[in-house]
Amino acid sequence: MIQTAERYLQQYFGYPSFRKGQEEIIENVLDRNDTVGIMPTGGGKSICYQIPALMFPGITIVVSPLISLMKDQVDTLIQAGYSATYINSALTVTEQQNRLYQLGQKQYKLVYVAPERLEEESFKRAIQHINISMIAIDEAHCISQWGHDFRPSYMNIPRFVASLKTKPIILALTATATPAVKEDICSSFHIQDENTFITGFSRENLSFNVLKGIDKLRFTESYLAENSKQTGIIYAATRKEVEQLYEYFLNKGVQVGKYHGGLSKDERSRYQDDFLNDNVTVIVATNAFGMGIDKSNVRYVIHYNMPKNLEAYYQEAGRAGRDGEDSECLLLFSPQDIRTQKFLVEQSEVTDDLKSKEYQKLQQMVDYCHTEICLQQYVLHYFGDETEEKCGKCSNCKNDGETVEMTKESQMVFSCIKRMKEKFGKTLVAQVLTGSSNKKVIQFQFDKLSTYGLLKDWSAKDVGQFIDFLIAERYIQPSEDAYPVLRLTERAVSVLKGEEQVFRKEQIVKKVIQEDNEIFEVLRDLRKEIASRENVPPYIIFSDKTLREMSAVIPLDTNELIEISGVGKQKLDKYGEAFLTALEPFKEKKTVSTVKINAAKGTGQRKETKKPSHHTTFELVKQGMSIHDIANEREITVTTAMNHLIKCHEEDLDIDLEQFVSPEHKVLILEVIEQVGAERLKPIKEALPEEVEYYEIRIVLQSK
Ligand code: ADP
Repeated sequence: MIQTAERYLQQYFGYPSFRKGQEEIIENVLDRNDTVGIMPTGGGKSICYQIPALMFPGITIVVSPLISLMKDQVDTLIQAGYSATYINSALTVTEQQNRLYQLGQKQYKLVYVAPERLEEESFKRAIQHINISMIAIDEAHCISQWGHDFRPSYMNIPRFVASLKTKPIILALTATATPAVKEDICSSFHIQDENTFITGFSRENLSFNVLKGIDKLRFTESYLAENSKQTGIIYAATRKEVEQLYEYFLNKGVQVGKYHGGLSKDERSRYQDDFLNDNVTVIVATNAFGMGIDKSNVRYVIHYNMPKNLEAYYQEAGRAGRDGEDSECLLLFSPQDIRTQKFLVEQSEVTDDLKSKEYQKLQQMVDYCHTEICLQQYVLHYFGDETEEKCGKCSNCKNDGETVEMTKESQMVFSCIKRMKEKFGKTLVAQVLTGSSNKKVIQFQFDKLSTYGLLKDWSAKDVGQFIDFLIAERYIQPSEDAYPVLRLTERAVSVLKGEEQVFRKEQIVKKVIQEDNEIFEVLRDLRKEIASRENVPPYIIFSDKTLREMSAVIPLDTNELIEISGVGKQKLDKYGEAFLTALEPFKEKKTVSTVKINAAKGTGQRKETKKPSHHTTFELVKQGMSIHDIANEREITVTTAMNHLIKCHEEDLDIDLEQFVSPEHKVLILEVIEQVGAERLKPIKEALPEEVEYYEIRIVLQSK
């Protein structure tokens, strides 16, 4: 049976093999066992129910917490040629009824619903006569009060299951692996331990970084500038901070969106769509953003503030790199974050017992920020996986920054705090150390202290950051007030006595995630064009990973193209032509030899092509049709149609390409070529106004 499952995996999703855990879970489900699957975000949980759903005789109901995600999931499946739908309140009542009716007619294999729907009488009645083979419960940790997203309706799912005439198979999936949550899921559905599968929790393509004592804004700004083409999420702790960062980056010309609970529903979905559709590259958000966000090409997640616990952190950070490509998670820690989180716990209306649990989890989060062991390993230990392996890429593993001894400077800071009687905050201490003649300094006669001006070569900001570092390393303990005063800890006293030395490591973070690649850029533009025509987010067409593989391999025909991971049969038929045409100009660069053709991959089913597609476009132009009409008629993009014509021109067919370049554009292109040369397309494109297309540049280059 697993062979059939694997065949479906190739046919619908274009992946050659199952990932860790997927195979065991699918086999267990196909053996008709109720199953719990615990896999990290991005681990590939969806496929664990999507593939068995194809093999069962009846339908599969997927219970999913967020209706905003259902459309996305279903769009992805439909793109792959899979019959799925969703029923939720975003649809009109008539449409909901239509879909229920179609379910009864066996038109779908899979239907997504929110848990609340299972409680509705009308829904229960309607599905009474439908054969339900499986119920997949996504984000199953929502059933547990110990989880971080507890949702009461999840607790009613077992009752719904019990009310069905024939018991379907249950598959509960989550990324939260704490023992308490697992226990709750298993007992709610009476699932035995042997039917519980926990896959390795490490995320091998992510590099985790904790940055302490830095200027967060300056750092983030330069990070965004250096990764301006990459997609990322910035999480901040409060709505106010989200607004401030959003305004700041907007003014700096960053393509940025925002998301928090204080925005109207319309605004939220507009910003979310902008992000999903690659119209903005960065989104600044509170933790309200992203539960289950399935955007696969998020290249970095920056936590501008430390979150409340490691479950939340790992889930949010885990939204980076779902496509398996290298991605970064950066946590910018400052001691103020601890106070914010403590305040939030204090304000929350929960029992004292729960509050003390929250404090405990918060402390473990703080420890993560201070630990010197591998960060990935630390998280795995937290989730109960006692691995000895180091990731080799987190900021602790990679910290080969120079270690500098800072004992003398630390003693200066400590003795200054002591002489100020441990009654003042960071700003004033820094001013005294740098020898400021600020009013307050004079008023308190701090200019008379022996520590006044000891660090006069430093800026007050640098001293402030150094103090943050000393707080993070627990030499200084700020009081827990709105205006915290600095107090020394035992550790600082040892340093003052000369019993302990202080070392500070330079923090080095690799700032540029991935080299830009010209072919990749061309493919990405094509993907965006197709996506906006089809009205779906770009990553649904192909993931970044798939495009990267295409740009490395440069497949030149359909046999080679279907070998690329993420290219299934349906997508090959729909987009193969367009992507092959776009790759054609790069054929000279092909260094990877033709990949071995895998007969099992259904290449035998390849459509017989009677006439090459580019010749059809050519003939239509000759018949006098405009390029836009041809694109519409043939359901291809204008770029693809133009690429067809360029190909015809290369084959020496009679076509005047210059008619497709406006004279103004031609002048501009020639000017830019003068400045940046004609070797590479991308610098030329970048130096030109947005509306000048790649094909125009190629035509001008050809005619030169
Ligand atoms: P999760 O729900 O566990 O966070 P998803 O189901 O969204 O993860 O899968 C994450 C990404 O991994 C998706 O882009 C998916 O298409 C891809 N993926 C899943 N299974 C495989 C596989 N066997 N081979 C390659 N990619 C896969």
